[in-house]
Amino acid sequence: MSIFDLTGRTAVITGGNGGIGLGIAQALNAQGCNVSIWGRNAEKNKSAAATMSAGPGRVHTQVCDVSDPASVKAAMQATLDTFGRVHGCFANAGIGGGGRRAFIDRTEEEWRKMFATNLDGVFHVFQAAARHMTERAEAGDKFGRLVATSSLASLFGTARNEHYAGTKAALNALCRALAVELARYGVTANAILPGWIKSDMTAGIMENDKFVANVMPRIPVRRFGEPSDFGGIAVYIMSKASSYHTADCFVIDGGYTAF
Ligand code: NDP
Repeated sequence: MSIFDLTGRTAVITGGNGGIGLGIAQALNAQGCNVSIWGRNAEKNKSAAATMSAGPGRVHTQVCDVSDPASVKAAMQATLDTFGRVHGCFANAGIGGGGRRAFIDRTEEEWRKMFATNLDGVFHVFQAAARHMTERAEAGDKFGRLVATSSLASLFGTARNEHYAGTKAALNALCRALAVELARYGVTANAILPGWIKSDMTAGIMENDKFVANVMPRIPVRRFGEPSDFGGIAVYIMSKASSYHTADCFVIDGGYTAF
């Protein structure tokens, strides 16, 4: 059996109904992993489920708003009722800056909304998953994977997008802290830092010729990333092969940060 065979494992992917999350869900499912896709839009969830390969891995969808702790609690319960176990949790749901503006003009509402989804959302989801994983570990079943989708914005000084950058930098720190705290339960915690990836979030900016002319020369592989570029790292993290790999920030950016 391949070290990357995920038959019998289950992963939650928040924001798994599109973009990077869907790329992750499809790759995991293709390796036999059960996937539970959480997103706010039931129709999008259903369409995403229809794209999965007809393998041994089953697919479950759940309407969930990660910024709402009650919604996350209900989604985790529904997932556990369906599969009985959650081995991995990809806290990937997030929102972008929605049009940059000067920090001095940043509204309280924009700031709060960003943190409610991108940071509080991960807190809710990771806590629900970690409670389950540590409980299972106490019963002798020590395996868990916590993965947050962060961003290169957590490393760079992204002007006029400081609220987004702040949430993502906090995710890197959260993963490192959890990696230390939860290691004894067999739970790893890592962040994934995408570069410029084609998705609904970036569709507008990637149609801007000036943006493309400016950014493309700084990407050594000379293309924007695709959601499918995140399949390999997701499968690796979910597999036994990654059990000694924790507290890391995986940069998936076509070499952008090398410049
Ligand atoms: P998309 O807009 O395609 O996907 C975002 C996903 O998050 C959707 O599935 C959406 O589903 C879900 N979502 C948003 N808000 C909530 C919420 N409150 N509760 C539950 N689900 C929610 O964007 P990407 O795939 O690009 O983004 C995925 C992650 O990658 C984000 O965290 C983003 O910050 C990060 N990222 C993306 C980069 C890029 O270049 N694309 C670069 C760096 C990081 P629904 O609307 O149904 O809820």
